[in-house]
Amino acid sequence: MTDVPTSGPLTLAELEAIPVERLRGVGQKKKASLAQVDVHTVADLLTYYPRRYIDRTKEARVSDVAPGEEALVLGTVARIDSRRTRNGRTLVTASISDGSGRLSVTFFNQPWRTKQLAEGTVAAFFGKVDLYRGAKQMANPVVDLVGDRTGRIVPIYPQSDKAGLMTWDVASFVTESLRRCSERGLGDPLPADVLAQWGLMSRHQAMTLIHGPESMSDVFGARSRLVFDELLRVQLTLLRRKRALELACVGVQHRIEGELVDRFRSALGFELTAAQQRTMDEIDFDLSSATPMHRLLQGDVGSGKTLVAVHAMVVAVQGGHQAALMAPTEVLAEQHALGIRELLSEIEVPDDRTLAGWRPLRVELLTNRVGAPARRKILAGLAAGEVDIVIGTHALIQDGVEFASLGAVVVDEQHRFGVEQRDKLRDQGRSDGRVPDLLVMTATPIPRTAAMTVYGDLDVSVLDELPPGRTPIITHRVEDDVGLSEMWHTVREEIADGGQVYVVCPLIEESEKLDANSAEEMFERLAATELSGRRLGLLHGRLSGHEKEATMAAFRAGELDALIATTVIEVGVDVPNATVMVIESAERFGIAQLHQLRGRVGRGSAASRCYLVSTHEVTSDGDARLDALAATTDGFELAEVDLELRGEGTIFERRQSGRNDLRLASLRRDKEWVVRARSAAGSILDDDPSLGRYALLADELKWFLSDREGGDYLLKG
Ligand code: ADP
Ligand code: MG
Repeated sequence: MTDVPTSGPLTLAELEAIPVERLRGVGQKKKASLAQVDVHTVADLLTYYPRRYIDRTKEARVSDVAPGEEALVLGTVARIDSRRTRNGRTLVTASISDGSGRLSVTFFNQPWRTKQLAEGTVAAFFGKVDLYRGAKQMANPVVDLVGDRTGRIVPIYPQSDKAGLMTWDVASFVTESLRRCSERGLGDPLPADVLAQWGLMSRHQAMTLIHGPESMSDVFGARSRLVFDELLRVQLTLLRRKRALELACVGVQHRIEGELVDRFRSALGFELTAAQQRTMDEIDFDLSSATPMHRLLQGDVGSGKTLVAVHAMVVAVQGGHQAALMAPTEVLAEQHALGIRELLSEIEVPDDRTLAGWRPLRVELLTNRVGAPARRKILAGLAAGEVDIVIGTHALIQDGVEFASLGAVVVDEQHRFGVEQRDKLRDQGRSDGRVPDLLVMTATPIPRTAAMTVYGDLDVSVLDELPPGRTPIITHRVEDDVGLSEMWHTVREEIADGGQVYVVCPLIEESEKLDANSAEEMFERLAATELSGRRLGLLHGRLSGHEKEATMAAFRAGELDALIATTVIEVGVDVPNATVMVIESAERFGIAQLHQLRGRVGRGSAASRCYLVSTHEVTSDGDARLDALAATTDGFELAEVDLELRGEGTIFERRQSGRNDLRLASLRRDKEWVVRARSAAGSILDDDPSLGRYALLADELKWFLSDREGGDYLLKG
């Protein structure tokens, strides 16, 4: 832990050392309430920021608001009832009075409002005012209980009925904390020139104003400063790690030009896209440098990442080294092995031990399914340098896997691996201390500024172009029985025309067993009803490896009309003849996952369709997700929507406990601050890599990392 001084301005580490029960008004009960929202210390409390503010200077009197306008009304609940509508939804209606008039407020499907807004409750209502049967009405407004708080701008804290924590409780504890900080003040780790450069206020002022602003422009200024702090901590951490790695590591300097690479290029049946060409150039530059490559290859589904990765692997093999590709699932590893063997089928490598001086390039698949004798052979081949490329799952990082000379590592779908796993594969690959080049591929598009943060220790290449000849996927939402029967009708027609179909079953929970059951049920139901007489296959995680492989092979060969599957097909599965994707209970999936699933079709030249089925009630977020998917196939656009809907929080994987890295900053809204923080981190580290002259900042980073298992958290990114 950081050494904590006991005088001078307060550091975050010091505030972290003061438990909330030391505050006036926090007894056992409130302590427990605060603990439920992860507030244990004064530092937690001060960074438990208001969720929004009620600007009472904008408060309107009911008698003054005109229909069609958005308004903030503060009033007392005079009456509230709840009833069921004809289609089975609940409708809560409240009558609000503010002395000047009455406003009717309605809520759909929010039965809990009758408890929240008991008669006599004072609350703020924000929304659009309409005229309904001659009376002013607001439908589904934003509601904040304000209690007896005064002031022009009232901060509203995230509250929790369950935890028994109301916004006014938090406000009073925060006020008390700030009062007790005021004597020593909050220390400022930022150098004056950085503050001046971006026009930032001091931390003390920012912390005071975010909790007690006089105007909305106070909030804005305070927020900027605190956002910058959060982003700077993250960027400094990532950048320091990146630089340390670069300094400490010597890589393999690969030669790019050569016969193998030429043959690989000329054996391709198509032209590279401009994005592929550019990305390969970026990778070539890294490969030929003495610093190990540490690069993220980002590209939407179908953008042709595999080819780019294979190019890097071929460069390594050409120089007499080996390459490894690690995928998150067996299905995906198999799919890669199949595709890559095909891409490289014509390629031979020089070998003095053979008569001809050449032998076919050898690609092996290593998963936990490979039987012991075969496994032994592959391991021997890897250790002897006779296996050129190995493709596999986690099995690649188990003990006993040794390489003669691993030159390049490709990790696919990185969000499923921890950083320590990708590093392990690199670390075990060489005995001479040099570090193999690393390429991480992800099909989850992330806006560039977010990538800068989430993958801040990697350089980023983006494949932002799809190969030509793809027909856009048409996406339909299916919300009722009529839609369903039309959908199955179209599915049968597609099958009759020779197309193939995926049906993805509802995600039950993180349980392979339940997911498998649901897929089995669906399989049987469809076989008996909508798809009777069609050739159906079933694929889920509980099948044996052999069964999975056989089913996938049959589907690929066109021997099955439809594949009923769980999300095991989410990534990598590539069957160009598949033209329809049906996703059942689509509302249960996230945007990224739906986008991935949809990307399984539209891989050939035929027009493809995706059906998002949601026949049950859907939350407004769920609805927004499905609408976004229906509106665009652009992964980057979807990623932005996703960021917005999910809200952000944790960059470093610490979701269960501990403080969030980003409480206030939003990778979406604060893009320019991400860039500024990155640049500030760069200049600070250029100026003083050890941060010796930035003592407060160095301390703060130590504190930032200390909560996280001694800094290991980074390895779990
Ligand atoms: P990703 O992994 O990015 O989703 P893949 O690498 O699986 O995409 O490529 C998708 C499909 O596009 C594959 O069938 C691949 O052979 C094909 N492909 C890749 N690059 C090109 C290109 N430049 N021109 C035409 N087809 C391509
Ligand atoms: Mg792929």
